Amino acid sequence: MNNTDIQPDITEIKNSRIDQVDFSNLQFGKVNADHMMYCDYIDGEWQTPKIVPYGPMEIEPSAKVFHYGQAVFEGMKAFKDENDQVWLFRPEQNFERINKSSKRLAIPEFPEDYFFASLKKLLELDKDWVKKGEGNSLYIRPFVIATENGVSASESDRYRFMIITCPAQAYYNKPIKVIFAQEYSRAADGGVGYAKAAGNYGAQFYPTKLAKAKGLDQIIWTDASSHEYLEEAGTMNIFFRVGDKLLTAPTNDRILDGVTRKSIIQLAKDNDIEVVVEKVSVKEIVNAAKSGELKEIFGAGTAATVVRVEGFEYDDVYHDLPIVDEPYGTFFKKSLQDIQYNRVEDPHGWTVKAF
Ligand SMILES: *Cc1c(COP(=O)(O)O)cnc(C)c1O
Repeated sequence: MNNTDIQPDITEIKNSRIDQVDFSNLQFGKVNADHMMYCDYIDGEWQTPKIVPYGPMEIEPSAKVFHYGQAVFEGMKAFKDENDQVWLFRPEQNFERINKSSKRLAIPEFPEDYFFASLKKLLELDKDWVKKGEGNSLYIRPFVIATENGVSASESDRYRFMIITCPAQAYYNKPIKVIFAQEYSRAADGGVGYAKAAGNYGAQFYPTKLAKAKGLDQIIWTDASSHEYLEEAGTMNIFFRVGDKLLTAPTNDRILDGVTRKSIIQLAKDNDIEVVVEKVSVKEIVNAAKSGELKEIFGAGTAATVVRVEGFEYDDVYHDLPIVDEPYGTFFKKSLQDIQYNRVEDPHGWTVKAF
C-alpha cells in the first residue's frame, strides 16, 4: 500500500469485546470489531482521520443524510492466510468506486492516502477479528454521509467518511431462487444505479419483500424501459451459462461495476472459458431454460463471492435449473478464494498485504 505521511489519531479500546463473540455462529453484519474510523469534511477540507472504539455517535436530526439520502458506501473484505498475514482483494477498486459514487451524489472525493493509511491501521488494531479458515473474513464497510444540519434541499457542506468492520463467515451459502423483474425497476438511465448509493438499496426492499412472499429470495433486475434485458441482482452481478458459454451484461449507468464480476471475467479468459459480455435477453434465457441449454445462473459479489441460483420465475412460471458436474460457479468461487486466502499464485497482482 502507499506510503503516506498522514496518520490517523488513534484512541484504542480499553477492553476488547472479542471474547464475547461466538465466531462459529455469526449473523452477517451484526457484530462489529473493536474499532471504527471516521473523518469529517469541514470548511472544504477532510480533517485528520480518527480511529476510536466502535460505538454510537451523535448526529443532529436535521443532518441532511436523514432527509435527502446523500450517502454512499463500499463493501470489501480482509482475509487471513495460514501464516496469519492479512490480505485485501483489489482494494484500489473499492477506493476508486467510492469516489465515483460520491461524485454522482455531489459528495467530495476522499483522498487515497487518508483511505489506505486509516484502513491499514484499523486492520492492524483489529487483526484478531480476522479469522483464518475457509469462508472467514472481516467484512469492511466504508461509507460517507452528509452531516450538515438544516433541512433545506441542497447538497451538504459537511460530510463524515467512516469505516466500520464486521467479522463474517461464509455468506449466502444456500442456493437461491430468483424472479426476473417485470414490474419494478432498480435503476434508470441517467440515474444512480452504477453508484453504491444507499437509496438504491432502500428502494429494493419493497419489491424484494413481495418476491419473498412468493417463496423467492431475490430479484434479477431488468432494464427499466423494456424489462427485456437481464441486468443484475440487488447486491450482486449475474452470470448465465448457456452450453459452455458464460454470459453477463456489460456495465452501464444502471449497473454496478462489481469487482467480483470483473475478476470472474478475467478468470474465465485465463481458463479458456468463452465469456460473452453483451446484453442478455430474458427471451434467450427462458428459451435456453426450456431447451435444457441453460446450465447455470450465479450471482457474484464481495459479500457472498459466488451464489448458485437454483431456479427462476418469469411470467408466473418457475424454471428449475439442472445440477451440473463441475459447475463454473464452484470453479470461480474456489479460484477466487484460493487467491484471496493467498493459497495460490496471484498472477494479476490482485491481493495486497494489509499491513
Ligand atoms: C456491491 C454490488 C455488487 C457487487 O460488487 P462487488 O464489487 O463484486 O462486491 C453488484 N451489484 C450491486 C448493486 C452492488 O451493490
